[in-house]
Amino acid sequence: MNYTDKETACKQELIQLEQTGNLRGLPGIELDGKWIHLDEKKMLNLSSNDYLGIASDQKMRQDFLSNPDIDKAIFSSSSSRLLTGNYPVYQKVERLLTDLYKKESALVFSSGYHMNMGILPAIADKNTLILADKLVHASIIDGIRISSAQCIRYRHQDYRQLEELLDKHHAGFRSMIIVTESIFSMDGDVSPLPLLVQLKKKYPNTFLYVDEAHAVGVRGLNGLGIAEEEDCIPEIDFLCGTFGKAFASMGGFVVCSKIFRDYLINRMRTFIFTTALPPIQLEWSFFVLNQMINMKEERMWLRKSSQKVKEALEGKGFTSTSSSHILPVVIGDSKETILKAGEMQRKGFYMLPVRPPTVPEGTSRLRISLTAGITSAELNQLIQNL
Ligand SMILES: *Cc1c(COP(=O)(O)O)cnc(C)c1O
Repeated sequence: MNYTDKETACKQELIQLEQTGNLRGLPGIELDGKWIHLDEKKMLNLSSNDYLGIASDQKMRQDFLSNPDIDKAIFSSSSSRLLTGNYPVYQKVERLLTDLYKKESALVFSSGYHMNMGILPAIADKNTLILADKLVHASIIDGIRISSAQCIRYRHQDYRQLEELLDKHHAGFRSMIIVTESIFSMDGDVSPLPLLVQLKKKYPNTFLYVDEAHAVGVRGLNGLGIAEEEDCIPEIDFLCGTFGKAFASMGGFVVCSKIFRDYLINRMRTFIFTTALPPIQLEWSFFVLNQMINMKEERMWLRKSSQKVKEALEGKGFTSTSSSHILPVVIGDSKETILKAGEMQRKGFYMLPVRPPTVPEGTSRLRISLTAGITSAELNQLIQNL
């Protein structure tokens, strides 16, 4: 085989990744409800973002499909929403989100990735300072990178440092945006949103951007997220969520003021220059949103089971800052983490190793993400096998 120089360099890098236990590949798995089949083995899926069990709920899919309206079963919007893709179902979903969150308006995007890649570059300019938590999601980091704003990342959940930065810089910028997740995806810890609201109110022209990707559907009485739980929805300027996780669909959304929505429609490149999601996908999102409001028992059970697994992990010496359904088991070394993941998989629990660059060097871990469909008996088995 004759490789080009570029391919030779790529190959070297792949070998390097393999040697350090950081090589990734696409798993040849089959999904079956909450189960995963891999190489003839059946495992409980503990790596899913299907937090409410909706994606694996056959009955819900059947209910959705039982009454097909061929005029609504449209599999492509064939255009950006600014041209001919703005089907009425978009307004239907956005009106529902606006009503649920009791905000001025909502806007739906093709994915959470599009959302985070697009909002910050649209609203932030060179007179803006973005203050982002060190551990925010890659999609937010990419959005910051292509924006013309200045950015400082504060130490993870270090709000004393955040306040120092706000204090030091507020006079030098026309506006500041504090950017955080509400439940952090790799540690499962929860941001104190009321404290962040307090901080942003202390400094004029400071806005709060919260990514609730892992919290929508899961937290708050009606499943609206940590902001609902903490009763601070009105104070969050950009409250972002995704449909791809607990809502078992696809897409992202922000609830915000009407002016910001209008502005995003005019300035947000990942909104303007892409084909809108298929209308049928939006119909399903609408259907799921209406169901998830009432899934209080699922939310309660998820909370209880998370607490139980956290206590079991602590009993075995694995402490963590998690206070959610995402529970890291930090091992440290990547290769050892892979071995441990393999061991758990042989025991019938599909847990995946999370390694750099997803998490900081030296903090490779198994990441348990619990879903409401996991029974008490299955939890006990998991705890015994940890
Ligand atoms: C998953 C995730 C996203 C991306 O959402 P998609 O809809 O999957 O593109 C954004 N932010 C956070 C915090 C996430 O965990």
